[in-house]
Amino acid sequence: MKNDFKFCPNCASKNITNTNNRKWECGDCGFVLYNNSATAVGVIIVNKVGQILMEVRAKEPKFGMLDVPGGFVEHGETAEVACVRECREELGVEIKDLKYLCSFPNTYEYKNIQYKTCDMFFIAKIADDAKFKLQADEVSNIKWCDLKNKQDLYNLPLAFDSAYNALVFYLGEK
Ligand SMILES: [Zn+2]
Repeated sequence: MKNDFKFCPNCASKNITNTNNRKWECGDCGFVLYNNSATAVGVIIVNKVGQILMEVRAKEPKFGMLDVPGGFVEHGETAEVACVRECREELGVEIKDLKYLCSFPNTYEYKNIQYKTCDMFFIAKIADDAKFKLQADEVSNIKWCDLKNKQDLYNLPLAFDSAYNALVFYLGEK
């Protein structure tokens, strides 16, 4: 899939070129736009018996598939604050003991635009008696998954490669 403009967003010239699906340049007015990697976070929430929390996605892309909580880091926000905010928004829970784990690139398609991201993964805990309040338009359900090895991961309908790679890393199965 290619992100494309038919016209320059600044002067409406058709003389706009796309390099590597990353840089657009208008030959008439000099307008330049970069589609750089966006920073996103994923939170691997582990309970006291070592199960990992998965969300069932309630929207496209990857409707009905599993993902860890997370999302795009907002302007001016740290990755850690984004983790806390996303878990509050999507799950209604407060995370604790947040620790950076690893990062992996990802491709995220939303309404026919392809975004390249650098997904930063963290490990976190929540209270044993945490009460969930799911954000209905994002998360249709949650599952605690027993993930011991790569085969367990293969058996899941995981939405994104980056989460798969991070969970492989977490399990020490690299
Ligand atoms: Zn232009």
